[in-house]
Amino acid sequence: MARRESNSHHPHQHQGTHTRFEDEQIEEATESSNLEDPMCDADESTIGQEKAIDDTMCEPDESDKDIARSFELDDSVIGSDKTSADYYFDSYSHFGIHEEMLKDVVRTKTYQNVIYKNKFLFKNKVVLDVGAGTGILSLFCAKAGAKHVYAVECSHMADMAKEIVEVNGFSDVITVMKGKVEEIVLPVAQVDIIISEWMGYFLLFENMLNTVLYARDKWLVNDGIVLPDKASLYLTAIEDAEYKEDKIEFWNSVYGFDMSCIKKQAMMEPLVDTVDQNQIVTNCQLLKTMDISKMAPGDASFTAPFKLVASRDDYIHALVAYFDVSFTKCHKLTGFSTGPRSRATHWKQTVLYLEDVLTICEGETVVGSMTVAQNKKNPRDVDIMIKYSFNGQRCQVSRTQYYKMR
Ligand code: SAH
Repeated sequence: MARRESNSHHPHQHQGTHTRFEDEQIEEATESSNLEDPMCDADESTIGQEKAIDDTMCEPDESDKDIARSFELDDSVIGSDKTSADYYFDSYSHFGIHEEMLKDVVRTKTYQNVIYKNKFLFKNKVVLDVGAGTGILSLFCAKAGAKHVYAVECSHMADMAKEIVEVNGFSDVITVMKGKVEEIVLPVAQVDIIISEWMGYFLLFENMLNTVLYARDKWLVNDGIVLPDKASLYLTAIEDAEYKEDKIEFWNSVYGFDMSCIKKQAMMEPLVDTVDQNQIVTNCQLLKTMDISKMAPGDASFTAPFKLVASRDDYIHALVAYFDVSFTKCHKLTGFSTGPRSRATHWKQTVLYLEDVLTICEGETVVGSMTVAQNKKNPRDVDIMIKYSFNGQRCQVSRTQYYKMR
């Protein structure tokens, strides 16, 4: 699941090296890499773009207006009658977000490997694909020998999924159903397998997990399986002087004006971005593991304690959260991590800036707790509270901070 554009980039940072975890489990995925550093210095091409923008700033003359009129494309030509308003409320209707997810090879190849290398799980089984998007996971399952796959997708991408299923010759195995999982009427009473890629930024942003749990409780047979079935959230601490300056302190003086009121908002908004593993100052603490096959919806709201021990003398500017998922029903344990030491994914990591800069010495610890809760007004938003205290040789501090993912 992809969600919004990242709200920032850390230019010139390189992706982490592969961990053993990943190298073992995503053999095929390591061959291709579309996950190169997307940022580069302004070069000729961007300079060229500036010029192009300047050119379009001129007023159109009469002949241009004629061209503009004749340029109103018939919907049948572009194959869509959707407007920007449709996409504003339903970004999954646009192919761009699906392109980003499909090109995330760590994500997509892991699902593919799970399915293709564990055909015994799928043989003659009825599968429900929760949030099918382009239908990719359903196609993998059909190819692996599933008896039937119900691909449920609420966005207009369902129309494309239908066409894709047909063109690829799987119409007799895959039934694409357009609608919300919570409202759809399945033609069968039970399914053997539920597969879904529901994970959001910070794992829980957008809260699609509830949809998977709803489907599990309504249709999954007693000994049925959920893929993936485990998801864990982790926390670590980083040195991040440069980007804290760039993203937070920036508001102190903008072209000579005090805009520090925006700084408070910027502090409260977790930043989705890639973190260089060399910035990591402490251990990585497991906060919470969720068992998707057993958990209750309420279990996605929790308070978890943490203890971060410095592995070197450094400063701490931010805490960083990330997750991993695993498919424990596979022949060989398979999964992927979105941590800073693993190959980057479109989820990147989630950076939570601290009010204080902690001066920490090797062996000293920051202790605290993180509380995660669904926002009451908008259940797709996530509220985060972090309490931390640090009693070091060169710095003592204790504080509570609030964040909101939206
Ligand atoms: N399975 C696809 C798409 C994953 S993104 C893939 O792996 O590439 C998640 C998809 O779930 C989006 O297309 C979104 O529109 C859909 N979705 C989210 N909530 C849903 C719901 N309640 N019912 C049906 N579809 C849903």
